[in-house]
This record gives sequence, structure tokens and C-alpha cells, in this order.
Amino acid sequence: MADLKLTGLTKSFGAVQVIKGIDLDVQDRDFVVFVGPSGCGKSTLLRMIAGLEEITAGELTIDGTRANEVDPSSRGLAMVFQSYALYPHMTVAENMGFALRIAGVPPAERDQRVRAAADVLQLTPLLDRRPKALSGGQRQRVAIGRAIVRQPKVFLFDEPLSNLDAALRVNMRLELMRLHRELNATMIYVTHDQIEAMTMATRIVVMNAGRIAQVGPPLELYHHPANIFVAGFIGSPR
Ligand code: ADP
Ligand code: MG
Repeated sequence: MADLKLTGLTKSFGAVQVIKGIDLDVQDRDFVVFVGPSGCGKSTLLRMIAGLEEITAGELTIDGTRANEVDPSSRGLAMVFQSYALYPHMTVAENMGFALRIAGVPPAERDQRVRAAADVLQLTPLLDRRPKALSGGQRQRVAIGRAIVRQPKVFLFDEPLSNLDAALRVNMRLELMRLHRELNATMIYVTHDQIEAMTMATRIVVMNAGRIAQVGPPLELYHHPANIFVAGFIGSPR
């Protein structure tokens, strides 16, 4: 189970308020995609959920527990970043198992979790390779693998596909949707790419300047945009 509740979530950097009161319920197994123009606060909001950024005001609860009262490492979240720097001197298996080694997970269980994740991500034949011998898409799958082995309740993605070329992005979108089904996971995904939002989301959250402009299933937003901003953003051809 993973239900997140954001209530009046606010973030200021100095005197500048960049997240201006976000209210949102994320239900178990949602695939929520935050979309909006560059600088609207998507990454900041994701980092607040991950516990990487302090909450200025408002409240975040995860399965009914206030997040500020829980150490970020035990929130049951795992984040996948846009720049998925892998350790160049480690193999795929070592990269995927590294966080577990640090957390003190015994070798046998570590190995089992890495193999299971590699199986899901079709990385099994590549487990002994080093990152420089992988394609961009394979590297991105390893980065996702590093999150999967931690068995999070919630995956947080910050523009994970934006470094990939167009064809690969299409493939990875399908893989992420398959992962969402197979892992029964809750996904919170940030992008500035309307197509990613339209194809993957169970619900889209359109953000504008630190606020939510509209929330709803993709087709609802497409056909019934709440305002001109949403219409322009979701409807605009690329
Ligand atoms: P997005 O991910 O939607 O492009 P961000 O969340 O990165 O937007 O940034 C939202 C706003 O907050 C931007 O104006 C950005 O300059 C500002 N911002 C982000 N991080 C910091 C920081 N550490 N200090 C000051 N301002 C920041
Ligand atoms: Mg960002």
C-alpha cells in the first residue's frame, strides 16, 4: 500500500515562494505524471516528497504517517533522476546492488534481489558488463534497476527519459508502463513532455508557476481543459 496526501504543500527559497500550496491525493498504484513548463516547480515538489528538500509549510503524509516525522531513507520511496550517473568501475550487478550493500543487506539476498530486478528489466545477459559497454537505454534501465532492488512502495522519476533519443524514449515509455503493472507500484513521474504524460499517466497533474492548474485522467484534460493554460499545454502539437 502506498497512499500519499499532500496538503497545502509550500516551498520557499529565501523570500521566493516556488511551490505555492499543493493539495493532492495519490492513491495506491496511481501513475501520476506532473507536467508543466521548465521552472514551474516539478523537481522541487518531487524532491520535497523524496525528503531531499525541506517542506516550508503544509503537510505530506505517506500511508497516514507524517513524512517529516520519518527519516527519508525509511519513507519507502526510491528516486530515479535524469542524470543517472552509474559507477563506471562497477558492473551492472554491482551498480544495482550497491545501495543494498550500503544498507547492510546480506549478500545472498542482495544477489537474489538484483537477479529479480534484472529479469524484469531484461538486463540478465548484461549483469557483468560495465556501464561504458551499455547503450543509453540499457544504462537507464540499470538506473531504474537500482530503484527496484530497494523494493520501494513509491517510485519517483524526474525526467528519466529526457537524455534518450526519440525512438528509445518510446520504448522506455512502454517499459515503464509494463513495470508499473508488474510491480503493482505507485509511480510519481515528472516531465515537461506532454506525450509522455498523455501515454503513461493514470492521472496528469498540470503545474503552472508553483500551483496545480488541473488534475485528471489524460483524456479528461485533453477534452475538457480547465483553462487556456492547460488547453495550450496539453493540446499543443510538438
Ligand atoms: P522544474 O523542475 O519544473 O523545471 P524546479 O523545481 O527545478 O522547476 O524549479 C522551480 C523554481 O525554483 C525555479 O525558479 C528555480 O530557479 C527555483 N529553485 C529550484 N531550486 C532552487 C534552490 N536550491 N535555490 C533557489 N531557487 C531554486
Ligand atoms: Mg526539473
